[in-house]
Amino acid sequence: MHRGFHPKSSTLRLYTKRREGGRGLRSAKVEDVFRQTDSSERSVTIPDTPTEKILWLYRLFGRPTKKRQCSVATSEDKPSGSKKKAKKRWWRRKNKVAPSPEEEECSKEEKRREGPEDQKAKMMGAKSVSTRQTRRYKCRGFPNPAQFCYMNSCLQSLLTLEDFVGAFRSQEQVWSSDPEAALIRAFMDIRESHLSPDAHRKIRLLVAFKEAVSVWAPEFQDFDQKDAHEFLTSVLDQMRSLCPQLQAAAASEGRIYSCPVEDHLVFKMQKTKTCKGCGAVSITEEEFTNLSLDLIPGGGTVEEMLRCYLKETELDYNCECGATTSCQRLSFVNLPKVLMLHLKRFRFTPSFQLQKVHDPVDLFRDLVVSSNQGDGCLSLVSTISHVSYTAECGHYICDGVDVNVAQEDPTDRWFTYNDEEVTETTGKAVCDERKNVSYILFYKRHD
Ligand SMILES: [Zn+2]
Repeated sequence: MHRGFHPKSSTLRLYTKRREGGRGLRSAKVEDVFRQTDSSERSVTIPDTPTEKILWLYRLFGRPTKKRQCSVATSEDKPSGSKKKAKKRWWRRKNKVAPSPEEEECSKEEKRREGPEDQKAKMMGAKSVSTRQTRRYKCRGFPNPAQFCYMNSCLQSLLTLEDFVGAFRSQEQVWSSDPEAALIRAFMDIRESHLSPDAHRKIRLLVAFKEAVSVWAPEFQDFDQKDAHEFLTSVLDQMRSLCPQLQAAAASEGRIYSCPVEDHLVFKMQKTKTCKGCGAVSITEEEFTNLSLDLIPGGGTVEEMLRCYLKETELDYNCECGATTSCQRLSFVNLPKVLMLHLKRFRFTPSFQLQKVHDPVDLFRDLVVSSNQGDGCLSLVSTISHVSYTAECGHYICDGVDVNVAQEDPTDRWFTYNDEEVTETTGKAVCDERKNVSYILFYKRHD
C-alpha cells in the first residue's frame, strides 16, 4: 500500500484533541435548533441526509454550524458590534445564497480575462481596485457551512496545480465510467464549478467530495474540524491507490492511464545507512507525496529546515559485526513536479497537551533543492495556513498563485481563499504575512 507518511514524520492528530473536548458549542447549538424547531413547528420537515440537512440549515441561517473562534488576519469581516449588525449580516449572508446579477456576471468576467480597465488599474496600483476585484473573485470561493475550511483550503491548493488537474481532465474517459473512481469524479466536479456563483451547488459538491473521501477514511465523515495535512495526504493516497485499477480498465480499452499524483507529486528518497563498526552500507528507497519538516526554534528558512531533515543522524541498528549504532543520511533521488512540504506546527507537550508552534518560517518565492539528479529550482505556488493562537481553535485559509498569470509576470498576482471570500494578493505579501501561520507549502519545479 502506498503511504505518504515517512517514519520520521509525526503527523499529530489535531482533530482527536478537538473531538475529545466535547463536540463543541457548534454542534450542541445546532442540535438545539433542531430540537426547538421540532417541538414548536410541526410542519417543518428536517432533512435526513447530511447534505440535505446542511443545505436546509444554510437556507435558514446562512452559515449555521460555522462560528469563527479566532480572528483571521485576511478576513474583511468585522466582528459584530451589536445584535442589529449581526442580524443585518445574517440577512446579507442569507440573501447571498441566491446568486446576484453581479455574481452571475462573475464567471463571465473571469473567462473574459483582463480588459483595458485592469491594465489601467495595474498602472495605478493593485490596491486601488481591491474592492471591485474582491467582488469579482468571490465566485472562486467555496462556502463553508459546516467547519470544512480544512477541505476548502486543500481543494483550492490542488486546483492551483493546473498541470496536475489537467492530467486528470485529459484522462476523463478512463475515470468517468469507473464505479470505483467516485473520488476523482467528485474532485473534477468541483473543478468544473470552481467559478460558479451557485453556492448551493458548491455545497452539494463539497459534501459529495467529503463523502467520497470518507468511504476509505471514515475519520472525515463527521463535520468536526480536521487536520488539513491528514486530509490532503488521505486524498492523494486514495487517488493514487485507484491507479492499478484504472490502468487495467484503460488497457482493456486500448488506452493508457497515468496517475497524476504519481506523475506530479510523488518523489523518491534514498536512505543510506552506514554501520559505525564495520562501515557496511545499506541503501533503501522510499516513495513520498510530501515531507514533514521540523520548525527551526527561533525561526529559519525552508532551505534550512530541509537541510536539517537531510542531515546525517545516528540511530540504533544491530549489525552482523556486533555494532549497535549506524549513521543514516537521506537524499532526494528525484524531484517531483510539485514538492509538497508540511511544516510541523503542532506538537505534544510532555503532559500530552496539543500545542501549536509559532516559530517563524522565512518564506521566499524560490527554493533550490539538491537531488541525486542535480539541483532543482522550484517556486512557491500555494500555501495552506492555520490561523490561530492555539492548537484547539483555528481556521484554515489558502493562498494560491493566479494560474492565468505567467511566472515571470511582474504583477505577481495571487489569491487568498478564505472559504467564500477571495481576495487578490501578491506572492511577496504571502511570503511576508504567512511566516507564523504557514502549514503546508507547494513548490512547483521549473522545467
Ligand atoms: Zn557493522
